[in-house]
Amino acid sequence: MKTEDIEPFFAALKAANPQPNTELEYTSVFELLTAVLLSAQATDVGVNKATRRLFLVANTPQAMLDLGLEGLEGYIKTIGLYRSKARHLMQTCHILVERHGGQVPRTREALEALPGVGRKTANVVLNVAFGEATMAVDTHIFRVGNRTGLAPGRNPLEVEKRLLERVPQQYMVDAHHWLILLGRYVCQARKPRCWECVVAPYCGYQPKTPAP
Ligand code: SF4
Repeated sequence: MKTEDIEPFFAALKAANPQPNTELEYTSVFELLTAVLLSAQATDVGVNKATRRLFLVANTPQAMLDLGLEGLEGYIKTIGLYRSKARHLMQTCHILVERHGGQVPRTREALEALPGVGRKTANVVLNVAFGEATMAVDTHIFRVGNRTGLAPGRNPLEVEKRLLERVPQQYMVDAHHWLILLGRYVCQARKPRCWECVVAPYCGYQPKTPAP
């Protein structure tokens, strides 16, 4: 993608969706952290279904500890890898209570020190909860970054660095959501829906998929 196409690319995404947000449901930073931790290799819809019930009984680290490992597993067993996610979440809650006064820390270092929280999860929490200009590169953003030519890279970290260099500052905080939604609903893995894509004039992918 040519440099001069980057600004109109994001302007088009913004015009179509001025206030993008995560599709995970949450009402606190701890709920967001929990939902993101549970969402690895699972759909947001599936996670929301489980957390809607879970958060009614446990939406703080202490309440989660009180629920206990088996209790937690009962709420999340419809989610893939639920056993290891439950274990990680309980360990994380221990650390939040013991070292952070029951709060979610807002530094990358402290977040990445939590069990089950990698760079991507830390980036989502920093971006969505704390409004920082971080770029969590998931499978959708990785594909869109490469396919459009916006941020080519061989691995998620390369794509993340390239995005941080190339995304104009005024779009940085929301870019993560726009790119995920673009990848999830339009620039899909098997067949990008170029014929109905608002960024088609600026995207470097050729040839574009014709309308069916
Ligand atoms: S034009 Fe096609 S390839 Fe480019 S972002 Fe849109 S859907 Fe993806």
